[in-house]
Amino acid sequence: MIEIPHAIRQAALALQRDTEAPLAAYLYDLPALDAHLERLRADLPERVELYYAVKANPDPRLLGRVAAVVDGLEVASGGELDLIAPWRGEKPFLFGGPGKLDEEIAAALTQGVAALHVESAGELERVIAQAEARRQAAPVLLRLNPRLPAAMRTRLTMAGQATAFGIDPETLPTVIERAKASRWIDLQGFHVHALSHQLDAERHLAMLDHLLDTCHALAQHHGVTLRTLNLGGGIGVNYREPARQYDWARFAAGLHERLHHPALREGQLRFELGRYLTAFCGYYLMEVMDLKRNHGQWFAICRGGTHQFRLPPAQGHSHPCIRLAGCRTLPGTPALRQAEVTVAGQLCTPKDILARDCPVETLAVGDLLLFPLAGAYAWNISHQAFLCHPAPRFHYLEERP
Ligand SMILES: *Cc1c(COP(=O)(O)O)cnc(C)c1O
Repeated sequence: MIEIPHAIRQAALALQRDTEAPLAAYLYDLPALDAHLERLRADLPERVELYYAVKANPDPRLLGRVAAVVDGLEVASGGELDLIAPWRGEKPFLFGGPGKLDEEIAAALTQGVAALHVESAGELERVIAQAEARRQAAPVLLRLNPRLPAAMRTRLTMAGQATAFGIDPETLPTVIERAKASRWIDLQGFHVHALSHQLDAERHLAMLDHLLDTCHALAQHHGVTLRTLNLGGGIGVNYREPARQYDWARFAAGLHERLHHPALREGQLRFELGRYLTAFCGYYLMEVMDLKRNHGQWFAICRGGTHQFRLPPAQGHSHPCIRLAGCRTLPGTPALRQAEVTVAGQLCTPKDILARDCPVETLAVGDLLLFPLAGAYAWNISHQAFLCHPAPRFHYLEERP
């Protein structure tokens, strides 16, 4: 099981003492985030750039801590572009994602985007038009959707198959030639974000070998100098077995071994990670409001729910959770002992389940349930307006007490 820092337990109880109504909250451990990011950065070769994919968690307080360590930020909407305004000029940024508006392309160019990730032949024409209107060449990486051996795929694969993302191998030659021929495109290299939820560093490295070879062959064939190769994000977090996480040290060592690959001879390798950077620093907290037994199963009905923490149903898992003895547990309140309990929220739908059959030594109304690994794709992917419940509280641990 996961170790919960003492400071997080203390903060959870302080929040409960401080709230009259039953509590739902997010807690962010910012010193733990700093330590995690610094370790990741320290293991990487210097020539490898680490960007943050803002969509994983755009919380401005987190962003500030992340931006201080990473080499740059990756955004995929006008809203995210506005959000990173405080770091403009300080940290380079990339603009990607499908369905870019002309006004977003224009804003990214005006604000000095380090690279636009172009998703299609049609989008390339719109970038050319915007660049020409500004009389300023647009820095571009073409996003590829290359063939991918089946053994390399994960649960969420965006490349090597029919998805909305990237440029197909069949149309790619024409698009590369068009980009090369336009004086308004500064073609800096290629971008591939092939999959998410990669938990195995060896398999990840094997996929990178395949992508390095593919990109090198393409660049050779078309006479493109690869100044930048962005191989995306996609490192997973193991929610089912929290003690077994991705082997970052192995990944970083593997990158050191690959720096001599011909695809990297003239340029830099870049990653844009989301989930793996921020997931570990976040916790979602729910207070138990009711305990009941239905058709042979125990249910804990808790404040909040999947409209605040959609991650478990979105990923189809039962999220690990830890019980904390609440400070308003009333003596004499019936408590469960040595039971397995399913954790439900306040929504009127049977889909509002965060964890199933969690073993508890004891559990009472007024206790707290703490869900770790909630710092990425959690609050910001949730259907917050459903049933008009209020937002959870947010608490940020700024430093270790
Ligand atoms: C979502 C996304 C990322 C980040 O993915 P993670 O799995 O969170 O690391 C990176 N690049 C692109 C293009 C994305 O869409």
